[in-house]
Amino acid sequence: MEWWVSMPKVELHAHLNGSIRDSTLLELTKALGEKGVINFSQVEHIIMKYNRSVKEVFQLFDLIRILTTDHAILTRITREVIEDFASENVVYLELRTTPKRNDAIGMTKGSYFEAVLEGLRSVTSVDVNFIPHDKEDSRTLFSPNNGSSRKRIYVRLLLSIDRRETTEAAMETVKLALEMKQFGVVGIDLSGNPLVGDWNTYLPALKFARNQGLYVSLHCGEIPNPKEIHQMLDFKPERIGHAICFEKEHWEILKSSKIPVEICLTSNIRTLTVRSIQVHHFVGLYKTKHPVVLCTDDSGVFSTCLSKEYKIAADAFVFTGLGKRESFELSRNAVELIFAERQVKEDLTKYFDSVAKTMG
Ligand code: 5GP
Repeated sequence: MEWWVSMPKVELHAHLNGSIRDSTLLELTKALGEKGVINFSQVEHIIMKYNRSVKEVFQLFDLIRILTTDHAILTRITREVIEDFASENVVYLELRTTPKRNDAIGMTKGSYFEAVLEGLRSVTSVDVNFIPHDKEDSRTLFSPNNGSSRKRIYVRLLLSIDRRETTEAAMETVKLALEMKQFGVVGIDLSGNPLVGDWNTYLPALKFARNQGLYVSLHCGEIPNPKEIHQMLDFKPERIGHAICFEKEHWEILKSSKIPVEICLTSNIRTLTVRSIQVHHFVGLYKTKHPVVLCTDDSGVFSTCLSKEYKIAADAFVFTGLGKRESFELSRNAVELIFAERQVKEDLTKYFDSVAKTMG
């Protein structure tokens, strides 16, 4: 595993509350159990279960939602998630989260976001850059003269629209994202239970986001829904996540439009949406040089990390020539797919180049 951990990596599909540490999840669950808010013995099996259907995964997310409706907890989770990604040499993280309103505890979408921001600010163990680059400033995170021997990580944020939300609620999220561009918000994600909701509900907010200069990534094709997949591809998002239940015509549109795909191997296997790693669509996309990036999705919920995802891919698809060097190239190519500003891309490109030289 050591080699996969040491390789610099780019994470473009990670949900904040799905990336919560196991130990933190258990600790929070026990604490709420002791307060009588939840019955620990009734939820323990949901947390501990290994393979979960899509329906069960969303039951777990509903539980996590109960655990994380507190600003301080959100701040803590954000800090821990960034530390965890940085510790395995993720050098660029695009973290996505759904701003949530909870009147009972005085939480607005805005205060939710502030709590996440506080988490970013509170990381002290690694160097974090989340504020977009000042054009006047030529120093960058990976400049050789930066002088830091600590782990370094760029973090940018996507705000997620939950498929349960109304058009108004989706629009509120997009407006918040626009206000928070100065704090590193680069785009909008559409996620949440694929069994609910309708594309036309979110479309006005997604169009508005695009017109205002935000990037859009969509969870697409997690369940068979040919009409919606078509509509999503017609929208031409800057990236899509998953792309599992595609039919021939969808593959044709995807290939010709070259929309990059965020691939989440473990997540797809554990939610039983892909039968086995051997038949995963990653291999076809990789072989035809379609833009793809390996991602964790929910590293906490699926007990994975990005280094593991690269190793799993290399072990399963070695026959396609996906060895260590090719894995490094796959990771390096992901820099082209990030939503951050040009300076970040340039800095990361130079950094990957410098690492490539040491590989010989
Ligand atoms: P949060 O947005 O609360 O930080 O992260 C957890 C949320 O992300 C979940 O409640 C769900 O809405 C969304 N999410 C996480 N993983 C997946 C996934 O694999 N598919 C979809 N569609 N949504 C997901």
